[in-house]
Amino acid sequence: MVSRVIPVEPFDLVIFGGTGDLARRKILPSLFRRFIAGQMPDGAQIIGAARAEYDADGYREFVRQSLSEFGPNDASKEVTEAFLNGLGYVAVDAKGTNGWPELASKMRDGHVRAFYFSVAPALFGDLADRLHSYKIALPDSRIVVEKPFGHDLGSAKLLNATLAQHFSEDQIYRIDHYLGKETVQNLMAVRFGNLLFEPLWNAQYIDHVQITVAETVGVDGRGGYYDTSGAMRDMVQNHLMQLLCLIAMEPPAQFDADAVRDEKLKVIRALDPVSPHHTVRGQYSASPDHPDYRAHVGNPRSRTESYVALKTHISNWRWAGTPFYLRTGKRLRARSSEIAVVFKETPHSIFGPEAGSHRNALVIRLQPDEGITMDVTIKEPGPGGMRLIDVPLDMTFAEALGPEVGEVPDAYERLIMDVIRGNQTLFMRGDELEAAWAWTDPIINHWDETKDVPKPYDAGGSGPEDALMLMHRDDRKWREIR
Ligand code: NAD
Repeated sequence: MVSRVIPVEPFDLVIFGGTGDLARRKILPSLFRRFIAGQMPDGAQIIGAARAEYDADGYREFVRQSLSEFGPNDASKEVTEAFLNGLGYVAVDAKGTNGWPELASKMRDGHVRAFYFSVAPALFGDLADRLHSYKIALPDSRIVVEKPFGHDLGSAKLLNATLAQHFSEDQIYRIDHYLGKETVQNLMAVRFGNLLFEPLWNAQYIDHVQITVAETVGVDGRGGYYDTSGAMRDMVQNHLMQLLCLIAMEPPAQFDADAVRDEKLKVIRALDPVSPHHTVRGQYSASPDHPDYRAHVGNPRSRTESYVALKTHISNWRWAGTPFYLRTGKRLRARSSEIAVVFKETPHSIFGPEAGSHRNALVIRLQPDEGITMDVTIKEPGPGGMRLIDVPLDMTFAEALGPEVGEVPDAYERLIMDVIRGNQTLFMRGDELEAAWAWTDPIINHWDETKDVPKPYDAGGSGPEDALMLMHRDDRKWREIR
């Protein structure tokens, strides 16, 4: 099984913020990996554009260092140099006139034009204006924007309106890098490529769904930003809600951008408002080698959460009665992201009460060891009567698909190439993003209005005690974070 690489059309990709952290750690190394894979056509041009006064050679040196830190470590010198030779740089000021005519002169006719806005959202409007006024963007050019896309519904609407002044919806690629993860796409393949699951995929058979995104790191290096955001804005409003949508949506008629995004939007609009009793917030405590959250962000009175758990329902025919539990946090026991679809017990146990209660669970692991596990109930081997145990049928993709498939590509590799191909399926549409804020805003506003103080939780643990209670009250429990 060899993965196929289909080169994309010749393109000019301008990375605004080409000297920033995201460009260094993700965008440039991802482009390099696609170059190595043979996906870049001859003549493709990548242009860094930022405030720093580099010349092209200086920028290449900057990128060389970024690649040695964050790129693949087995690339040959020749390949690296060939990639670097395709790079250019223009010093531009998003808010001024500096650099724009030069950037315009570098654009090539007949190339797909893509502009990656890897800068603070406050600059999106300035960039869009100048791309338009210097006639750099064409009617079929694409712009890529990063999260955070606003910090509430009002600001997200404003950003959408700002971009809409010069770009139509089919030119705007709003990144949620979770959608570029291989397993997340597999979620759709598993649901809609197999007959097995779909008939059982509803409230009649599914007891509940739990979605966990656990990190071991704290707010390292991003404390200032994070303290104005918190886990709800930084993780739930985008990544966890996207996962929820893919689990819960109706089968789209086709796997195309609007069909998929229409179905996701319907899920978000069907989400019940979340009762304050069904949310738990936490802040990590200190450990011997690490400060607590408040010290870490330098705000001793901070009321921002580094952990959140909540329970919600989807009010539609498929899901009425099946709760969805979401949790995410920093400084937890393990770096682990998974979606567990927990089925109901059999309606009647022919093995009697001593066989205990057993539930199948389909677990989609996003990290580590991307793969899918199905917990099934079997007889415990050996004599001594009919004792039942649950064992996982494990399909770790790396093992199942064999070594020829190679490394799983980083989400950014897939997403940037989708931009060049003009495929918006794995990007968020403006109305979807606004609907997500419309759902999260009242939850956040309630915390603000009541001056809710997050509960402390142990670093290296599994979150605040109250989050365990959120499940226990319903006679359910979280899966272990490991
Ligand atoms: P950064 O501060 O490291 O880099 C900002 C870049 O913007 C620099 O290249 C700088 O030169 C450029 N810039 C600033 N003002 C400018 C101006 N007036 N004109 C032209 N260029 C200007 O930021 P970052 O961490 O790379 O983040 C970029 C964007 O990506 C932000 O919106 C951020 O929220 C988002 N993001 C970053 C990460 C990450 O891991 N770093 C993850 C997700 C989203």
